[in-house]
Amino acid sequence: MLLINGTLVTENDIIPDGALLIEGDRIADLGSTKELLANHPGEERLDAQGMLVMPGLICAHTHFYGAFARGMPLKAEPPTNFPQILERLWWRLDKALTLEDVRYSALVCPVDAISHGTTTLIDHHASPNAIEGSLETIASAVQEAGVRACLCYEVSDRDGEEKATQGLKENREFIRAARDGKFGPLIAGTFGLHASLTLSDATLKKAVEAAEGVGFHIHVAEDKADVQDSLKKSGLRVVERLNKMGILGERTIAAHCIHIDASEMDTLRETRTKVVHNPRSNMNNAVGAADVPGMLRRRIVVGLGNDGFSNNMFREMKTAYLIHKHVEGNPQAMPADEVVKIATRNNALIANLFFPRPLGELSVGAYADIILLRYLPPTPLRVENLPWHIIFGMDGSQVDTTIVGGQVLMRGRRLVTLDEEAIFARAQELAQDLWRRV
Ligand SMILES: [Zn+2]
Repeated sequence: MLLINGTLVTENDIIPDGALLIEGDRIADLGSTKELLANHPGEERLDAQGMLVMPGLICAHTHFYGAFARGMPLKAEPPTNFPQILERLWWRLDKALTLEDVRYSALVCPVDAISHGTTTLIDHHASPNAIEGSLETIASAVQEAGVRACLCYEVSDRDGEEKATQGLKENREFIRAARDGKFGPLIAGTFGLHASLTLSDATLKKAVEAAEGVGFHIHVAEDKADVQDSLKKSGLRVVERLNKMGILGERTIAAHCIHIDASEMDTLRETRTKVVHNPRSNMNNAVGAADVPGMLRRRIVVGLGNDGFSNNMFREMKTAYLIHKHVEGNPQAMPADEVVKIATRNNALIANLFFPRPLGELSVGAYADIILLRYLPPTPLRVENLPWHIIFGMDGSQVDTTIVGGQVLMRGRRLVTLDEEAIFARAQELAQDLWRRV
């Protein structure tokens, strides 16, 4: 397929009247429309009508199952701190999930992602009363949706040894099956752990054995409660405890990393652990702001996730742009180019731990994960000022077309592969039942 008449946004250039040749699931050629039409005359064409052609966005930490929390009435007293948010909201919700709920959460979120230009998602799943088969259920829904995803199950001791054992098994079996190609090229697996505060040394040891070097996806120092718990359990701060237990490393994703000190940052850097920043969630839970500028100065790879918020990564970028200036009282704290680099280049680096071909870039050989954005710049748009156009002018609602692995998933803002209305109607029924059980 030849995508023509677009304004191509590549890493170092903006190419007007550009074109891309898509072969199978990858980009096979790139250049001017005139040149590519001459070289590939018989190809089927997709007219970008002058829209911006950009790599699809990546969300490096999310929870599909959070889809059912939207508007849910709380039966308990409203939480006043983070442990109460876990106990009164998330751990009540996730315990009530059935496999069908899990399946629909993994359709609702991709609908939202496709609609807002997010093409790869790294999910972190929990359903303590429907553990077995949960990852396969998510994988089949995500395959149906056509987005790219890396999945894991959050192992935790919070519901006892049996559930922890089931969680270990679910990760191990899913990772093996995904590695054997059971779910196709769009699906990968990693090893999920909840957080230091719900994991014993014994379970962490079992996880290291079961993970067989694949790396972990874990919440780290999201709240000071995690630090207090870790000091009590081990005499060590969270990052040091996890390092001692063999959890950190270049294939591990540490979500949040808010309550960490300078020496823990050095450990993250030395172990080449990947950190994922989730500013909307952090502000919502009132858990503080990660020192992302400090981590970037130490050359830690920091990516961007939504932690279950809307799958519109443009919104997450805007929040990341604002929060650090506000917290530090410093308008230079987080320039737009840094934010965009985190969300694009660093997220691609993280996602490429799980997928072999280049992601998050328009280049020959990269996955054809592409979005077309209807954006009329009111001021000159150049490669040097693109990040400021992204932060101040662009949004996921301007995404017209979404392509993943060469397959068109949305065109003219209409979903091609999924029946959005039918999915949301069934999700509403399931949510009503689920809320009764929560
Ligand atoms: Zn999370």
